[in-house]
Amino acid sequence: MSQTYKICLLPGDGIGPEIIAEGVKVLDAIGKKYDTTFEYTEALLGGIAIDETGTALPQETLDVASASDAVLLAAVGGPKWDTTDPNKPRPEQGLLGIRKALGLYANLRPVKIFNALADASTLKPEVIDGVDMVIVRELTGGLYFGERGREYDVEGAGVDGAKGQRAFDTLMYSEYEVERIVRHAFETARKRRSKVHSIDKANVLESSRMWREITHRIAEDYPDVELNDMLVDNTAMQLVNAPTQFDVVVTENMFGDILSDEASMLTGSLGMLASASLGDGTALYEPSHGSAPDIAGQGIANPLAQILSVEMMLRYSFDMNDAADDIARAVDEVLNEGWRTKDLVNADTPEDKVVGTKEMGDLVVAHLGA
Ligand code: NAD
Repeated sequence: MSQTYKICLLPGDGIGPEIIAEGVKVLDAIGKKYDTTFEYTEALLGGIAIDETGTALPQETLDVASASDAVLLAAVGGPKWDTTDPNKPRPEQGLLGIRKALGLYANLRPVKIFNALADASTLKPEVIDGVDMVIVRELTGGLYFGERGREYDVEGAGVDGAKGQRAFDTLMYSEYEVERIVRHAFETARKRRSKVHSIDKANVLESSRMWREITHRIAEDYPDVELNDMLVDNTAMQLVNAPTQFDVVVTENMFGDILSDEASMLTGSLGMLASASLGDGTALYEPSHGSAPDIAGQGIANPLAQILSVEMMLRYSFDMNDAADDIARAVDEVLNEGWRTKDLVNADTPEDKVVGTKEMGDLVVAHLGA
């Protein structure tokens, strides 16, 4: 019997609408091949939601998202909505808000080298050859969700003892938040090369000392998985020094944010990296990059990270592993044939192999073997 899945689409801002269209194109082709219907409902998030409703995350969007089997997001944000005024809505509030509301506490970002793109990396081929890791980032706690504030006219906070302003953010974790993300990492490692690096700053931060303690307790349940503790500053070095040592990397929200962007550069293009945000209910899939306002509307954005986020959706939300493998293979084949969006071009790329957003989507569909 044919299966139907409800998908909430959040195109967002900048290149968002252009790349999500290619994700949908690929999903539709997969639906035909595997006798599956994907029903889409589009909703507002980010800057466009601020423009149309005054808030980055309208209640209606949350309702649609929660009632869906999965959420496909493109990207939000842009200079139009940049503000330092804490009382004005910002697009990122939509992103953080939907993650929190859907209880998406685990963000998975695979970082794998596509052979055809090995020369796009700024690192030497011998350093990145064989890189294949997943960064498991805690997504709903830590510094990005702790209490924060700003005080004005504070005695002595200004220059030379004058009155000035003061700001603070709080890094707080509860035991259960650490436990569930670390378990997730160990479970993920069991399906891979059975190695976990837990990243912290236990030499300075109390929250990190608790993180490490809990991680070691959980590790006892996984004697088959190797656990390594690594300080976040050392990790930043090791990621560019010897990145093949990593299999599963688990860490708190802000460290994960920064390290996953650094790791993404191993592949040479932010336009290639997908991510999945998982909790106990509806999951959300999105590219790791932002809304690229500098190239929005030009039809040149790379849609592959969005398409690879569809691959993750099929795998994690719908258990459609064959369909997910089709997408991974199709992307590999298209790249091996030499097709490139502008961000992937180098000096050796022939001009007739440079394609736009839509053409790249069409090429992937043509290679799905439908
Ligand atoms: P960005 O990822 O949007 O862009 C960085 C650079 O990479 C730009 O030169 C851009 O053109 C390029 N790039 C990114 N994605 C690309 C793609 N698919 N194809 C080709 N080139 C691509 O990061 P930024 O410039 O720091 O941020 C722009 C906006 O996006 C900001 O408002 C930021 O807040 C927002 N942002 C949103 C998310 C999200 O929605 N998850 C994540 C990061 C940044």
